[in-house]
Amino acid sequence: MTDEIEGGCRCGRVRYRVAGATGLPRAYACHCRDCQTWSGSAFSTQFILPEDQLQVTGEPALFELTSPDGSRTSRQRGCPVCFTRVFNTNTRRPGLAVARAGTLDRSDELTLVAHIWTKRKLAGIEIPAGTPSWEEGAPPAEFAAVLTG
Ligand SMILES: [Zn+2]
Ligand SMILES: [Zn+2]
Repeated sequence: MTDEIEGGCRCGRVRYRVAGATGLPRAYACHCRDCQTWSGSAFSTQFILPEDQLQVTGEPALFELTSPDGSRTSRQRGCPVCFTRVFNTNTRRPGLAVARAGTLDRSDELTLVAHIWTKRKLAGIEIPAGTPSWEEGAPPAEFAAVLTG
C-alpha cells in the first residue's frame, strides 16, 4: 500500500512527489551552522531518500557549492521564484537526495527521530529524552539505522 507523499515550495512552482512512499518519511533535525544559515532558522528538518524516488516538476534552480578542499560538491535545488530551498544531492553520497522536510504538504505530521550537530543547538530547544542525538554528525551506520527505523 503506497501513500501519496508530496511537497513543494511556498509559491507552488516547484512540486515533488515521493514515488512508492508507504508513509511519511522519518525526518531529523540538523543544528549545524550551515543549516541555520540556509534555513534562516534554529535548525533544518530533513529526510533522506533515493534520488530516483524524487519526482520533481517546476524546473528548480540549481546552486552548486564545492568544499574548499574540492573533495565534494553539494547541488542545491530550490524555487527560482520564491527561493524556497527544496532538496540537495552531494557527490559524497551518490544516488541519495536530502529533502527539506518542511516542504512536505504534511510537514505538521512529522516526528523528528534524531538530532545532529547539537553542540550548536539554541538554548530553549529541548530534545525529548530518548531521541537519538549527536554533538556533531552521526556515524553513518548508526544514523542509517535510526532513519530507517
Ligand atoms: Zn516557489
Ligand atoms: Zn546541517
